[in-house]
Amino acid sequence: MKITPKVKSKKQEKTKRPMVAICPDCGKLLYYRFAASDGEYGCPFRPCPGCGVEYFDPRWKEPALEKEPKLPKLPRTIWGYVLLGLAFLLGAVFMAGYRLELLLLGVLLVALGVWSALEWRRTLPERQAQLKEELKASAVRVSKASYLERLAQNGVKVPKKIYHQPK
Ligand SMILES: [Zn+2]
Repeated sequence: MKITPKVKSKKQEKTKRPMVAICPDCGKLLYYRFAASDGEYGCPFRPCPGCGVEYFDPRWKEPALEKEPKLPKLPRTIWGYVLLGLAFLLGAVFMAGYRLELLLLGVLLVALGVWSALEWRRTLPERQAQLKEELKASAVRVSKASYLERLAQNGVKVPKKIYHQPK
């Protein structure tokens, strides 16, 4: 069976997504759009934590569809903490009126960044093993044409070679 998915440009994909995703069934907050870039590998159709109805979550990437599914050495959120912390420290140098507050916030954020980085490195082998398992499960999922079609309907770009894979 051959499917021709609708190809959407990146821009269209972005404007389509709301700032916050709310479950249409129970009204529970599912995710914020800004958090959608630091994704995880797994099936993007997930049950709503409130009512269990399945929804599409763009934070989850199907690893079998990624070119090189691998875990980042350090996730972006950690760099965010460190940079924000450094900005506060810089502020403490120039804004004498708030020196102590800025200094405390800066040190706290940098410390949080360093701690998260160490924690990430510590759990990396475990995560890598999980990713291997997830890849196997993912390959099974994407071998179904109906599943690929569902992904394409939700704006996921499915590489051509996956469609023409011998079954
Ligand atoms: Zn719900």
